[in-house]
Amino acid sequence: MLLGCIADDLTGATDLSLMLSREGLRTVQSTGLPGDDLDLSEVDALVVALKSRTIPAADAVAQSLAAAEWLLAHGAQRLFFKYCSTFDSTDDGNIGPVTEALLKRLDAGFTIACPAFPATGRSIYQGHLFVNGVPLNESSMRDHPLTPMRDSDLRRVLQRQTELPVGLVAYADVDAGAITKAFQREQAAGIRIAIVDALQDAHLREIGKALVELKLVTGGSGIAIGLPAAYRDAGLIDTLTPPATSIAAPEGRGAILAGSCSAATRGQVAKAQEAGLPTLRIDPLEIAAGRLTPAAVIDWLVSQAADVTPLVYSSDDPDSVRAVQEKLGRDKAGTLVEDLLATVAAALPEKGFTRLLVAGGETSGAVVNALGVKALSIGPEIDPGVPWTRSRSGPDVALALKSGNFGAPDFFLKAWSSLA
Ligand code: ADP
Repeated sequence: MLLGCIADDLTGATDLSLMLSREGLRTVQSTGLPGDDLDLSEVDALVVALKSRTIPAADAVAQSLAAAEWLLAHGAQRLFFKYCSTFDSTDDGNIGPVTEALLKRLDAGFTIACPAFPATGRSIYQGHLFVNGVPLNESSMRDHPLTPMRDSDLRRVLQRQTELPVGLVAYADVDAGAITKAFQREQAAGIRIAIVDALQDAHLREIGKALVELKLVTGGSGIAIGLPAAYRDAGLIDTLTPPATSIAAPEGRGAILAGSCSAATRGQVAKAQEAGLPTLRIDPLEIAAGRLTPAAVIDWLVSQAADVTPLVYSSDDPDSVRAVQEKLGRDKAGTLVEDLLATVAAALPEKGFTRLLVAGGETSGAVVNALGVKALSIGPEIDPGVPWTRSRSGPDVALALKSGNFGAPDFFLKAWSSLA
């Protein structure tokens, strides 16, 4: 294994896995610490998905260090700490404390913090993060329920989370290709973590070249695009492996489970309905009243014609979700839906459904847990950030785990064509 990665959430881990595999590393993803039986013989990068973004900082540090220990014990030559491209965190962490702990564990003097991904609308200029052209603190992240981002200056944001000196490698150095020199300059000035500007994806590739010597890289999935070629050019890996254009999926039927209420997912549900897919709507109030059970949903799925892909969805518009949350409580409503979809998913392989498309980050986590799938091979990209995967433990299933807001409107219809 060349690169050991620690991601602070599940769909972020998938996004990173896809990026690395697209750029030529044979990548496997694991939910939590992998078992020692995971076959690493043809693996260049392993991405360990944690759920550590918003847990107490001490727990995030402990879990990240445990993952680092596992990765290092299994031969990782470099570590990558992956967080969200909108730098989701609070003044208590967890980006600063985890970075600090990993630097210490690796006895490393210096790293970067770079959530930039210009192709997906995340750019950094003079240390300020822009989301689709507006400063982070003016984007919808301003009102995020768990990690409201009220400052676009990542130096300030990160400096509030760590005692290590935070610096900046700004656009002028990046654009001039003087990045390694700038790293040396920052280090000489006592800087331990540098925010790095990036306005185009070409910058990410230039930055990648300068990251070869670093034992630790931290950032979003974008910063990963420059790493594989840079590692190959530096002789850390012999060859790059082209990504799969299709993935062999186990024989069986497909089903779609959507527990996301994000705009993109609601559009995808509407498009699937227009196209005539059989759909079943899940109402949290019906679950709470005991009138809708997992068994009923499973029966419905099994009773659909074998040549169509049924869709079970709880996706609803913000007003309806708010009304349900007022009646049940936000957490209760979420848990009812997640538990129901997870219980349904766990029963599906035995009923002949071996190809599952899941919409929603939390929903995906619940489904993967309930299935008992610990490790995933990464297959072809369906839409930016979302690959098909195949389980490497637990039941043999093909899974597409979609963060709610990802994917084109026809995602639920077109995803199936890249399964062999
Ligand atoms: P996303 O990736 O879009 O954020 P998630 O699955 O992470 O999607 O989060 C959606 C949350 O909303 C889950 O906890 C889910 O159970 C909950 N949820 C889904 N449908 C409803 C609904 N109709 N009413 C209330 N909560 C819902």
